[in-house]
Amino acid sequence: MYFIEFAECCKRLEKIRSRLAMVEVLAETLLTLQEIELPVFIRFIMGRIFPDWSPKKIGIGPNLLFEGLAYVIGKQKETVIEALNSKGDIGTAVEELVSMKEQTSFFSEQLTLLEVYAAMEKIASIDGKGSQREKNLLIRRFFGASSPLEARYLARLLLEDLRIGVGEGTIRDAIAKVFDLPVSVLDHAIQVTNDIGEVAFLALKDPNSLNSVKITLFHPVRMMLAQAGDIATGIHDHGKISAEYKYDGSRFQFHRKGKSCRVYSRKLEDITSSVPDVTEMLMSVTSRDIILDGEVIAVKDGRPLPFQTVLRRVRRKNEVEAIKDSIELTPLVFDILYLEGNDLISLTYGERREILLKEVKKYVAPNIISDDPAEIERYYMNGLDQGHEGIMLKVLSSQYTPGVRGKSWLKIKPHVDTLDLVVTGADWGEGKRAHVFGSFHLACRDNDYLIPISKVATGFSDEELALLYDVLKDIVVSTKGKSVILEPNLVFEIGYSEIQKSPNYSGGYALRFPRFISVRPDKSIDDIDTIETILDRYDFQEQHRTGSNQ
Ligand code: AMP
Repeated sequence: MYFIEFAECCKRLEKIRSRLAMVEVLAETLLTLQEIELPVFIRFIMGRIFPDWSPKKIGIGPNLLFEGLAYVIGKQKETVIEALNSKGDIGTAVEELVSMKEQTSFFSEQLTLLEVYAAMEKIASIDGKGSQREKNLLIRRFFGASSPLEARYLARLLLEDLRIGVGEGTIRDAIAKVFDLPVSVLDHAIQVTNDIGEVAFLALKDPNSLNSVKITLFHPVRMMLAQAGDIATGIHDHGKISAEYKYDGSRFQFHRKGKSCRVYSRKLEDITSSVPDVTEMLMSVTSRDIILDGEVIAVKDGRPLPFQTVLRRVRRKNEVEAIKDSIELTPLVFDILYLEGNDLISLTYGERREILLKEVKKYVAPNIISDDPAEIERYYMNGLDQGHEGIMLKVLSSQYTPGVRGKSWLKIKPHVDTLDLVVTGADWGEGKRAHVFGSFHLACRDNDYLIPISKVATGFSDEELALLYDVLKDIVVSTKGKSVILEPNLVFEIGYSEIQKSPNYSGGYALRFPRFISVRPDKSIDDIDTIETILDRYDFQEQHRTGSNQ
């Protein structure tokens, strides 16, 4: 496939709103691809470059892109930024700018999809001193060789934000249609491999093998997630249920094979070198080839410290030793996904827990099993007294479903009136805050789209605003008047008093009295709350209001 064909496919899809129509176009295109193009196309069309489990990162921000592009079109970087500001979208601005570029060679070869991928792999492999320059050269080569339409999608792809609305569910449905496979088989294979490109490849080559794909060591799977719930409903729906404390720390997945091991964060980043102490503790509890799931917390005088403290350790890349002893970490293991070549995720929670207790001698998170609401309530209060965030209820008969925020795990904590939202833009502050951003535009998710829901301007200290400016200034995509559009990748936890219907926001809802609680660097755009959650909370709130008025 030529990259121009990929770009044309993106252009077609960008105009379509109906998911079914998108699936049609995707299915048609999948049929034209060669075997080795399939995984690359599938990731690219979702705006991803490497498989989710892969540690490879492209590491290109808007600044680097603007510099490379400015060189290619023979203009100043400021011209590029101006064009962006007037368009408000990086793709269309780049398309227009590249159309002004002089044709350098009449016989320049057309870029193929695989060449673009190979060049991106090269970019990702450049590290250390001089890497920015090398990346810049590669970007110049890219835009030098591309037509305006190719440049539009290349620019968005390099920033891994394709904005055509194709998410994993849509492309999965197209794969199911083309290869005539049940969605459930594909879902399971995607969860286990954490690589939808690879799943498509297998669907083409050997569909039967999809039923027997297994978790692979050192290919982290997405973490299973929880929905907000309450004790009475949990027991009513499931009878006897397991309750564990909900620890306010940082999620980890530990992989071990022989003497090698890696620790991954919730975003599946390799954090092994940041947590040598945790690695050592986990290596000491078993000698088996294993994958464990848990939460790492910071403790002082026997009490847990706030999760921001844990993050300072987990995100630290340099001088780990210097900070290691001042922040003491403890892992709490609550699940086992793999043991000695056996994939355990299809076993029930009860069965996995039995294996966990047998295999892991220390650091296993305690639990109780009960169908007595009063007993679980007491356990909950006990957890809060000990400084934990609340409890997790886990359905005994449930399988481990990577990446799924289902009803098999229910989180119970005192305040559920917060939402995790992504920052999509900001406004400059006023007065003494005029040199930083003073308010932030927030969005929730509707499948593959971002839906604006609120702005937040309260709850920040001056230090926090300065820190946020430092982080956000590098991901400014464009500026309009007193506002900027940002690459959507920073997640805020936001408190609010109420959800209101609002004609001012395209999703139809807004937050009343939004308040900044914290940055959630451990969460990605895939983890933010969805419009369904907002609708559910709105309904709940309204029912509650009617109920209390009666
Ligand atoms: P939330 O981030 O509010 O969606 O809550 C889910 C998170 O709680 C998980 O991703 C874990 O990091 C964390 N957590 C803390 N304790 C537990 C536990 N016992 N079981 C599962 N997750 C837990």
